[in-house]
Amino acid sequence: MTARSAIVVGAGIVGSCCASTLARRGIATTIIDPRGVGQGATSAGMGHIVVMDDPAPELAITKRSRDLWDEILPLLPKDAGFRRCGTLWIATDDAEFSEARAKHARFNAAGVESHLLTGAQVAAEEPHLRPGLFGGLLVPGDSIVLPAVAARWLLREAGVVSDGPASVRAVMTIGANQVTLDDGSRLYADIIVNAAGLWSRELTRGLPLRARKGHLWMTARAPDLCRHQIVALDYIKKVHSTDAVTTSFNIQPRASGHLVVGSSRQFDVETEAVDAPILGAMTELATTFLPSLVAIQTERVWTGLRAATPDGLPIIGPHPSIPSLYLAAGHEGLGLTMSMATAEIIADFATGRAPLLDPSPYAPSRFKELLA
Ligand SMILES: Cc1cc2nc3c(=O)[nH]c(=O)nc-3n(C[C@H](O)[C@H](O)[C@H](O)COP(=O)(O)OP(=O)(O)OC[C@H]3O[C@@H](n4cnc5c(N)ncnc54)[C@H](O)[C@@H]3O)c2cc1C
Repeated sequence: MTARSAIVVGAGIVGSCCASTLARRGIATTIIDPRGVGQGATSAGMGHIVVMDDPAPELAITKRSRDLWDEILPLLPKDAGFRRCGTLWIATDDAEFSEARAKHARFNAAGVESHLLTGAQVAAEEPHLRPGLFGGLLVPGDSIVLPAVAARWLLREAGVVSDGPASVRAVMTIGANQVTLDDGSRLYADIIVNAAGLWSRELTRGLPLRARKGHLWMTARAPDLCRHQIVALDYIKKVHSTDAVTTSFNIQPRASGHLVVGSSRQFDVETEAVDAPILGAMTELATTFLPSLVAIQTERVWTGLRAATPDGLPIIGPHPSIPSLYLAAGHEGLGLTMSMATAEIIADFATGRAPLLDPSPYAPSRFKELLA
């Protein structure tokens, strides 16, 4: 049966994509967020739309999502900062270059364009990187965009009704076909989507989400320092590392000429405060790779909270025991990238359409905590 009405809780990039896709499928959709559109982790994100290759379900959802983003990105207004800068993964030694070769093979098998580069070719692509890098992998189809601007545009274009921040109402509880707001009133719809990022665990009991804090900093304008989003290949090991605090090198050339530099990962810290030693470690690492950064002023430093799941995959689909409730949360450091395919999965369930992407790896029912 096709849903005729929907309430989406949370107007980050994931909720905004869900609401816009549901509305474009003809479902009367309301979105609720007391903070307005594009806040939360979305306002802190780097804005990299990137296909990741491992594990296979992450490749499937990031590839599908990047394809869907590619249909939207050229339509966005200029202030969305869209730029197809590609991703340059860089290897410092032979072991990391083996990882580049493995990525290349997985991308080839999945039909994602990528090119292995020698150290000299890396230097030619990015002359300001330190000399002597071993090689790299260029993925030309990846992009960057400002997620909050994209979220606002998506909602506006789809004509989604927003219930915040004018009324500044938050959802207090979610039940079958209904939400209760903080003023005690209730709203009803055929389906409810809990897309409240890290906060979705407060609204749906048993959602196994942990905060994974990240730091970023933005430099003054330095448009000639790099052309691609450059990421050190050891980044992936660090993303998948267990509980350790990690920093890795990742730099993005914004359309505005500013550079955004990252990043860090730290579990279970839920404050916004900037941690000076972590920032110091990030700066040291970044200047090792891109020595000219030393001379460029920092304009802003900020932090954000990613919502991490135990297996590193997002939680997307019907709640296993609450009828009409759908979950779209736990996207950790790839929520912008994955938001489009997440919305497609939710809309396919809501409209009874056969899914293009197999949704089973992301099914909420894989977590027994949700069955209790
Ligand atoms: C430092 C950093 C860098 C990142 N870089 C990238 C990147 O380059 N590429 C990428 O793909 N991803 C990146 N991410 C991840 C990405 O930003 C997140 O995965 C994504 O923004 C999550 O979006 P969301 O909509 O699920 O959650 P959020 O953006 O957190 O939105 C949730 C919303 O729910 C609302 N809410 C909370 N409680 C309630 C309630 N009771 N009622 C109503 N609304 C409520 C909140 O106000 C909030 O606006 C990064 C994250 C961080 C922290």
